[in-house]
Amino acid sequence: MDLGIAGKRALVCASSKGLGRGCAEALAEAGVALVLNARGAEQLERTAQEIRDAYGVEVETVAADVTTPEGQQAVIAAAGAVDILVNNAGGPPPGHWTDWERADFIAALDANMLTPIALIKALVPGMMDRGWGRVVNITSQSVKSPIPQLGLSNAARAGLTGYVAGTARQVAPSGVVMNNLLPGSHDTDRIDALDGGIAEKTGRSLDAVREEKFAAIPARRYGTPAEFGATCAFLCSQHAGFIVGQNILLDGGIGNQTM
Ligand code: NAP
Repeated sequence: MDLGIAGKRALVCASSKGLGRGCAEALAEAGVALVLNARGAEQLERTAQEIRDAYGVEVETVAADVTTPEGQQAVIAAAGAVDILVNNAGGPPPGHWTDWERADFIAALDANMLTPIALIKALVPGMMDRGWGRVVNITSQSVKSPIPQLGLSNAARAGLTGYVAGTARQVAPSGVVMNNLLPGSHDTDRIDALDGGIAEKTGRSLDAVREEKFAAIPARRYGTPAEFGATCAFLCSQHAGFIVGQNILLDGGIGNQTM
C-alpha cells in the first residue's frame, strides 16, 4: 500500500532504539525525511546512518534529553516545519505504590505527559496553518489495563491520554490527526530490563520469565518494533485522516476487553 506521505518530514523522539526506531524505519520506508532524537549520540548516529543507507531518505539527528526544556528546544528547532510528530521517551521505573514521592511523580509527568504536550503545543500550530499534520503519541497498554508495579507510568500516561482526547478533536478541523499508540510487551531493551528485574527478584532465568509471559499472551510472543512501526506509519499516512483521538492497542490480545 502506498501510504501517500513520501516527501513529508517527521520528528521521531527517542528513536535510536526500540519502538521509536521501529516508527522511524517504517516512516523512512514510506519516503519520509526524519529528525531522530536520543540522549546517546553514538547509537543515534549509527541508527541514522543505517536508515539513510537502507531507505535513501534525509535523516538529521538531535542528541538531547527530550524530557528537559533544553532538549525540547533543540528538537523543536531541528524539526522546523515538520508534518509528522511521533512523541516518545523512556518509561518510568517500576516499584511499589509506597515507594514514590512527589519528585518521582514530577519526573514521570515531565517525561511521559508534559514533554509530549510541549512538543504538540510547539509543532501542531504550524501543521494547522499548513492544513495537514499527524501526531502519534507512544503511550502504553497500561492506559487500558494498568500494570500494578508501573504506577508512575499508569499515572502519567493517563494524564496525556486525557489531554489528547480533547486536543485531537480541536485540531482535527484543521487537518491534523492525533492518536495514541499503546504498546503491550514488545521485544526491546526496555522489556529486557523489566524482565531482567523480575528474574533477579524471583531467582528464575530470563528465559523462564519470558516463557511465562508469552503463555499469558494470546499471540504467544512479544510484538516487534517493526510491527509497531508499521502501525505508526499507517496512522501517519494519508489513509488515516478519519482516525481521530483513538487509543490503538498492540498487545497480542492480552487485554481482555472490547473497548
Ligand atoms: P527502549 O528500547 O529502551 O528504547 C528507548 C529509546 O528512547 C532509546 O533510543 C533511548 O535512547 C531513547 N530515550 C530514552 N529516554 C530518552 C530521553 N529522555 N530523551 C531522548 N531519548 C530517550 O524502549 P522501548 O521499549 O522502545 O519503549 C519506548 C516507550 O514505550 C517507553 O516509554 C516505554 O515505557 C513504552 N512501552 C514499551 C513497552 C515495551 O514492551 N517495549 C510496553 C509498553 C510501553 P537513549 O537511551 O540514548 O536516550
